[in-house]
Amino acid sequence: MVIIGCGFGGLEAARALERADVDITVVDRTNHHLFQPLLYQVATAGLSAPAIAAPVRHLFRRQANVTTLLGEVADIDPAARTVRLADGGTLPYDHLIVAAGATHSYFGRDDWARFAPGLKTLADAFEIRRRVLFAFEAAEKEEDPAARAAWLTFVVIGAGPTGVEMAGTLAEIARHTLPGEFRHIDPAGARILLLEGSPRVLQAMPEALSASAQKQLERLGVEVRTASRVTAIDEAGLEVQPPEGAAYRLPSRCVVWAAGVAASPLGRQLAAATGATADRAGRVQVEPDLSLPGHPEISVIGDLAAARSYLAGHEPRPVPGVSPAAKQMGRTAAANILRRLRGEATQPFRYRDYGNLATIGRNSAVVDLWTPWRRIEFSGWFAWVFWLFAHIYFLIGFRNRIVVLIDWASAYWSSQRYARVVTGIAPGTTDN
Ligand SMILES: Cc1cc2nc3c(=O)[nH]c(=O)nc-3n(C[C@H](O)[C@H](O)[C@H](O)COP(=O)(O)OP(=O)(O)OC[C@H]3O[C@@H](n4cnc5c(N)ncnc54)[C@H](O)[C@@H]3O)c2cc1C
Repeated sequence: MVIIGCGFGGLEAARALERADVDITVVDRTNHHLFQPLLYQVATAGLSAPAIAAPVRHLFRRQANVTTLLGEVADIDPAARTVRLADGGTLPYDHLIVAAGATHSYFGRDDWARFAPGLKTLADAFEIRRRVLFAFEAAEKEEDPAARAAWLTFVVIGAGPTGVEMAGTLAEIARHTLPGEFRHIDPAGARILLLEGSPRVLQAMPEALSASAQKQLERLGVEVRTASRVTAIDEAGLEVQPPEGAAYRLPSRCVVWAAGVAASPLGRQLAAATGATADRAGRVQVEPDLSLPGHPEISVIGDLAAARSYLAGHEPRPVPGVSPAAKQMGRTAAANILRRLRGEATQPFRYRDYGNLATIGRNSAVVDLWTPWRRIEFSGWFAWVFWLFAHIYFLIGFRNRIVVLIDWASAYWSSQRYARVVTGIAPGTTDN
């Protein structure tokens, strides 16, 4: 069998088949499994890349039934039961799990990508980190006050968990990490703006927690502008349509996109090839057991699946694009393949939702916890400590847990961010 993608869903599916008598090929276009919830820490120089990523080959070193391949899947041929790689190779399968995840969506404005990078891969995180740190460097050299102000204006578009985390941490860098290191600018005077099209930050959270998150952001010095739609982005800034009145221009040389998610293009290709339906975000609609209609040998899981949860006694509910859902789908898809091999009926997917958490910055977070008994909402320092340990617990690899714990402890006491070394030279110079 073949598993496409070794993110949360693919890794969990392969691990769930550890003791099964199946030959598994895991193919991923990167050589690492990435813990995306902490990617913003790499983008903001708090952690280095190896702390949140693990080589796929190393993860499966003891799982003898897994062969790891580095390669990009170009398309899937359900009639021939083969997966075609971009480099021309093909992989035959009798069972296929597609877990290729999602990417950014610029809502039809892909030309904005070069001015406002999104955060999905390590390469994205390196690019954002470079832009953030170089913006302060450019400001230090800039004589013109208006141009300097544009370098010192950081805009994050989209106030979901990633946008909130990015904005809060940028404020920390400006207020706590960099002061004292520059001679011509005061980094603490940098403006950090968080723009959100809907009326509140962290839409998936209860209203009280959204309000608390906004307050905590403002305390850190972030200007939050809700109900504000971005209508244009270019090299020198962006145009914003507020809820009332005329659109205004915001000069900024460092813009981060955290607003939209679209499924991997493999979703639409697979839907077209199998007659399945892809939704507006390109996610493939799956059967209750996560297989494709008319193709029980193909399962789609994680962010690529428009799946529903079939908990007993509840109406079927759409499954959110979060890592616990991808992991649980990986386990269900693997178990259903084994059931099929034994000639048993498959089971519907049942998503166990434990709630949501988001950090905002130093000592600030919001937690919405769903226990079997009751829902618990809290925010502030306790929420931050809870968030911290939850993320360390779920990180892959013992060494990574230790490294992150030490890095965070030292950053907490010193306010320093140690992953500030970037490749590339000063903008405007030639590399020779
Ligand atoms: C910045 C960020 C922060 C997040 N924070 C949180 C959080 O705090 N909590 C939470 O629960 N969720 C969070 N999420 C969402 C969570 O990461 C996803 O829901 C989860 O990763 C989905 O798992 P997946 O297996 O479907 O996809 P992924 O984990 O994205 O894995 C997909 C894999 O497929 C590979 N791939 C893609 N296309 C191809 C191809 N054509 N050929 C070969 N390989 C391919 C990719 O390289 C990748 O390894 C965050 C996401 C991001 C981007």
